[in-house]
Order: sequence, then structure tokens, then C-alpha cells
Amino acid sequence: MKSKGTVYLVGAGPGDAGLLTLRGAELLRGADVVVCDVLVNPELLRLAPPTAEIIARGNHKRNGGLAQEELTAILIARARAGKSVVRLKGGDPFVFGRGGEEAEALAAEKIPFVVVPGVSSVVAAATYAGIPLTHRKLCSSFTVFTGHSDAEESETALRYEQIAKIPGTKVVLMGMDNLGDWTQALIAQGMSPQSPVAVVERGTTGRQKSVAGTLATIAALAAREKIAPPAITIVGDVVKLRDKLNWFERLPLFGKRVVVTRSRIQAPKLSKRFSDLGAEVLEIPAVKSELPDDKQDLVDALLELNSYDWLVFTSVNGVTTFFDLFFRRFQDLRDLGGAKIAAVGPATAAKLREYHLQIDLMPEEFIGRKIAGAFAKHSSIENTKICLLRAEKANPDLPRALEELGAIVDDVGLYKTVMETDDFSGAAGDFRQQGADWLTFTSGSTVEFFHQRFDLPKVVKQFPGLRIASIGPETSKALAALKITPAVEAGEHTTGGLVAALLKAK
Ligand code: SAH
Repeated sequence: MKSKGTVYLVGAGPGDAGLLTLRGAELLRGADVVVCDVLVNPELLRLAPPTAEIIARGNHKRNGGLAQEELTAILIARARAGKSVVRLKGGDPFVFGRGGEEAEALAAEKIPFVVVPGVSSVVAAATYAGIPLTHRKLCSSFTVFTGHSDAEESETALRYEQIAKIPGTKVVLMGMDNLGDWTQALIAQGMSPQSPVAVVERGTTGRQKSVAGTLATIAALAAREKIAPPAITIVGDVVKLRDKLNWFERLPLFGKRVVVTRSRIQAPKLSKRFSDLGAEVLEIPAVKSELPDDKQDLVDALLELNSYDWLVFTSVNGVTTFFDLFFRRFQDLRDLGGAKIAAVGPATAAKLREYHLQIDLMPEEFIGRKIAGAFAKHSSIENTKICLLRAEKANPDLPRALEELGAIVDDVGLYKTVMETDDFSGAAGDFRQQGADWLTFTSGSTVEFFHQRFDLPKVVKQFPGLRIASIGPETSKALAALKITPAVEAGEHTTGGLVAALLKAK
């Protein structure tokens, strides 16, 4: 599948992480070194092993990142050291973006290399703006060129008199800096000033922005709308189809920036729900879990699992942590014993079912008193032994309410929740600068730790357009402690309920 000492020039696609190829994903998973361009979605780096060396190129011209020569030297040095090097390039490696030159340099040094095509912005940004590049009734070809061709004397300088004569759609990359110049040049060479034109900025991402006009008007329109690179420009009659086919920008949460604060492990599922609805998602995990301070209780509980009448799980994280620890200690699932199993909430139950465990009781609500009520309804728990498997120092209401019903409760801390500080993708930095439309919280601890990191009341004041969504009463209580009232609280206290509440409030 992969061999050492090879450089893989991999097309990372245009921005939407889902547009990386399977081959690209497979190579990333096995990478020793990943070298990545500015235009590449940083979320893709999560596919690489945690041990991989990540070299982000940065934009050489804009903020002093690595120059092309330095970068090529790194690729060569790492490959010579026997590493599997994945060089991620925006879009397709061989469509502009100098992939050809990098491959030449590798060939000259006799470094083995492989090129993995990617989804180019040429097609992807057009597609996500509802513009098919060809259409049986409108045109039968498309031409791609760069708007960035400078030197007149250069052998590759564009000949606008020729380009103007080519029928069909024209797609222009890197055309923003000179948009006025080249559109005027095409008009001067005989193209109709009325030719339809669209500009698509950051196509396929939650920040996509597109405007349409004509060859005569587009430069002024793009300036007015502050369109900035990276953007493609599309010229031709197919642009008119955008009104009818603009599927992506019509998604219900398109144009909304949504912050997801769940832990790194849990966030992606929720993020995906939002991005599937067209939102731009900033994943800023507020919490992560670590082993509890008091490990003795945990060890004792694991050794006595047989003695319990009930095992109670209150979160997905609780379930996964429990089984991680369990299988480290035991080889046989039967060591779990014969206790009944309670799962608070459908997500916790679903996680337990993945281990082929049936749920005897599933209280729907996360409130201690209500959970105890669900037990009481199921059967008497007087004198039964209940093991609560949940976060250390979790809300004491639940064990108290169960004890009031006569149960003997061991409240076992499986993990402790601490503040996440890492800003892997730069999302936290983006949030500090630009705020968001929605800030979503899925637990009291996400509220508390997000507040510790960002100062919630201050953030709310700083960004008046920011709205807060809470998954349920416990989370809202944590917000209330900071004198913040959420704009919405989910009716059903699940991530599905949270997404539904946001859609409704939109
Ligand atoms: N190899 C890349 C192109 C690199 S050149 C590809 O195949 O897509 C950089 C130019 O690509 C940008 O100036 C812009 O014109 C275009 N581009 C890259 N990503 C884009 C995106 N998400 N939306 C619009 N244009 C994009």
C-alpha cells in the first residue's frame, strides 16, 4: 500500500473535507510526515497518526511561510530519511499550484513519488455554486486559465485575443487581483460585455460566497461584496443556471457559523450534522477527559462488578471509557456479571448496544430526580446495589435521589473532565476574531470550560449577533450561573434535538 522513502503528492480537494479521495485518506493514515498548503482544510490533518510530523507551509508571500525551494528540500530530506511523506495540495496537485514542479524536483533527485489526483476547485467550486461547466443546450467545452499571468514577455503569457474567440465556458483561477483587467481585455477582444459571469469564493466550504453579474459589471460587484482569494470566476451562459441549481447555498444553515464545543472525540458527529445543513462549523472542543484523580474506587468497582444489581451509564463517553478500562483488565465479556443495565438518554443506550448489551431501563431525561423516578417506576430499588459509572465529581443529585429510594449507591468516577486548550485547526483563533452566529453547548461542563477559556459574558457582549443554543435544562442552568439565557433550548435533550432547535430558530 505504501512504501517508505516515498513522497505522495496528494490532492486534498477544494475545502470540503469530504471531497478528499479514499486513496488520499488511506495515505494520510499511514503518513510519517505531512506537509500541507494554506488552502488545505486543516481538519484533514486529523486523519494522520498523532505521531506524524506535520509541517504547515503557511502562505509564503502573505505571512512568511516556507518558500517553495525550502519546502521541496524538506520533502527530499524526509524521503531520504526513509519516511512516508504526504504532501497535501489544495484541489488537484497538477492543476496550477506547482505540483508539476515539485514532482520534477523529486524526479531529479531520484526520490520515488506517487501523485494522487484531487477534486479541483475548477469543477468543485462551480458545482457548489450550482453551475454545471457544460450543458447540452448551452455549450460543449470549457477552458481553464489563470488570471494571474503577469510578464508580457513570458512564453506562457495569455493571449486574450485567442481566449476571447474560444466558445464555451471559461473558468479562471487566481483571477481576483486582476479581475477588472482581464474581464476588460476579453471585452476589448470582442466578447459581449453582457456575457454572464459568476465569482465563487472559498467554494465547497461553509464560507462559500458567490456573486453573479456580467463581464462588464463583475469587477465592481466583486469589489462591493469584498470577494477575496481563493476564488474562481466562471464566464459563460451556464452561469444563468445558478438561479435554478444553487443547491448548496440554499441549504438551511448556509451562511451560518456554528461553534461545536463537545470533546474532540464527540464533536465530529455533531459537526457533520451542521455542515450537512450547509453551516460553517468551528470545532472548538471545550473539554477533554482524563483518568480520574481517585483511581482506587474505579479499580474496586471493576473487581466487584458481579456484586451489583444495576450498572448505570449516563454518557457515551462513560460507556467508551468504561469498556476501555474493562477490556484492559478482563479478557471475557462475562466478567461484566449479571447486573441490569440502565442508560440515560438514547445516545448512551445506542453506544451500549454497540457492545451487544440490551438496555433494561432508559430514563430519557438527564435530571437526577427524573432518573430516580424512572427506576422507581421500573421496580423497587430498595436495598439494591447500584453502580453509577460516570464522570468524577458529577452532579450529586442523582446518587442522592437513588439513595432516598433505599438503594445502595457507588458513585464511581470513570473519568474527569478537564479544559481542552489545543487549537489544532485554528478554529479558536477564528472565533476570537470573528465570533459566530451560534454557540452550541451540550453539557454543563462544556459551558464551564468554554467560559474558563473564552469568558462567556465578554464574548456575548463582544459579538451581539451571537446566539447560544443549549441541549437541555442542566446545560441552561450552567449558563444561568453566568447570567446568560440561551436563545434556544432543545426540546428533546439530544444532539438531534439541538440541531432541530437551531433549524427552527434560524
Ligand atoms: N490545485 C488547485 C488550484 C491551486 S491555484 C485546484 O485544483 O483547485 C489557487 C487557486 O485555486 C485560487 O486562487 C483559486 O482561484 C482556486 N481555488 C482553490 N480553492 C478554491 C476554493 N475553495 N474556491 C474557489 N477557488 C479556489
